[in-house]
Amino acid sequence: MRTFRHFIDGAFRDAASGQTFPDVCPLDGKPFAEVALGGAQDVDLAVRAARRAHRGPWGSMGAAERLDRLRLVADAVQRRFDDFLDAEIADTGKPAAEARRIDIPRGAANFRIFADLARGMGTDCFETHTEDGAGALNYAVRVPLGVVGVICPWNLPLLLMTWKVAPALAAGNTVVVKPSEETPATATLLAEVMAEAGIPPGVYNVVHGFGPEGAGEALVRHPGVNAITFTGESRTGQAIMAASAPTVKHLSFELGGKNPAIIFDDADFDAAVNGTVRSVFSNAGQVCLCSERVYVQRGLFDRFVSALAERAGSLRMGDPYDNAVGIGPLISRTHREKVLSYFAAARQEGATVVTGGGVPDLPAPYDAGYYVQPTIWTGLEESARCVREEIFGPVCHVRPFDEEEEAVALANDSEYGLAGAVWTRDLSRAHRVARQLEVGLAWVNCWYLRDLRTPFGGTKLSGVGREGGQYSMQFYSELRNVCVKL
Ligand code: NAD
Repeated sequence: MRTFRHFIDGAFRDAASGQTFPDVCPLDGKPFAEVALGGAQDVDLAVRAARRAHRGPWGSMGAAERLDRLRLVADAVQRRFDDFLDAEIADTGKPAAEARRIDIPRGAANFRIFADLARGMGTDCFETHTEDGAGALNYAVRVPLGVVGVICPWNLPLLLMTWKVAPALAAGNTVVVKPSEETPATATLLAEVMAEAGIPPGVYNVVHGFGPEGAGEALVRHPGVNAITFTGESRTGQAIMAASAPTVKHLSFELGGKNPAIIFDDADFDAAVNGTVRSVFSNAGQVCLCSERVYVQRGLFDRFVSALAERAGSLRMGDPYDNAVGIGPLISRTHREKVLSYFAAARQEGATVVTGGGVPDLPAPYDAGYYVQPTIWTGLEESARCVREEIFGPVCHVRPFDEEEEAVALANDSEYGLAGAVWTRDLSRAHRVARQLEVGLAWVNCWYLRDLRTPFGGTKLSGVGREGGQYSMQFYSELRNVCVKL
């Protein structure tokens, strides 16, 4: 059996406690690796190594050299594409076609894009009047924060980790990554790649383990960590915010969602169905941006629900390397229990189950995997738990509406505010509704179309701050004003 060890100060290490925990493949429920169980001692070693590297080789390296090395990381990820692909599939069970198109290329692209962006960043300069008439010159220099703690979820492990590691390193910080306990593989593989690309020891550190009372919490509480960038559940964000208060850390949070899609009856029907199928079932619904609330204008409602149900029913499960497979398992037994508890709750709350609602009948070994059926409900009240709470599975509730104003009010009636999709051919309405949605990301006639230069983040319980493009560079650095009397 393989072992995923911590990566601290340029070397793979066992946990200080000597303990491990199993890494289970969700395709068949079988453990395939052992993972070092990190705690406060491991985190302390990693943070000290990161501080030394920040003050030493990484901090003193010229920006051009630093960014060139990040491009080498991108090249190395690309060279080992198939290793990353296999590692991601073993951890998550996602279809290879999806990981080939999205997860692994984005893992490489993040390093290239932020290396380019970091090179182009400028700052303000002010000429200041002084009483003697000679004046003063004020300019700002952008400096790294220091050591950044990167705490990651399991749904897009490589993509979301590099989305944070790349800009943090490009800005001159060093990092300690705490991958999700469900998906330790690609963060470990990236450590090999970092070494190959000439990234000095201590710049990229990985400590595996759990969150509360484990490696995650130790990272948040460590006084040597200057910032925490976190993607995960809103509840976890609340705990991290509280635990990081005594050491006043910079925080960036990308949290949960209960995202609406609004389909007007003038929409391009096929495009809206295709887009909504993607937005509900991609990654088995385990994307923070997935739509779980679908509002369809009444004239289109029945036809739309039938089309959605037909497409949901035709999603194939099984061998992730088979290109015909369109949907994988959920991440874990625990998560499947959670999603199935919502399936039961929906029935109790009076839902009509249009399709799905249970566990599929699959051949071995997938019969032991953590699959659920793609599911569509109608008929729930907006107050139902299944309409209000994030489920994070391949499921949505579809409800009819009559007027634009009503659709906007329904979409905004949520504690969350991450993303929304609007489908219409009416240009004015598209802009009007996008402007009114209380979300960080509003898509019109598309979903999950990303330009990495654009701001990414959520409102309300869905997050704090924005990352992406220059917004990432702003978060991972701070400005020092220099005032020169002339
Ligand atoms: P999670 O919050 O359970 O765990 C995320 C990470 O936080 C893990 O590494 C975990 O070990 C760690 N953690 C847990 N408790 C902690 C604590 N008290 N202190 C420090 N670290 C702690 O989330 P998850 O189940 O891994 O991921 C799914 C969630 O992530 C969903 O809510 C989803 O919407 C959200 N998500 C959001 C975005 C976004 O960009 N907004 C993207 C992907 C996922």
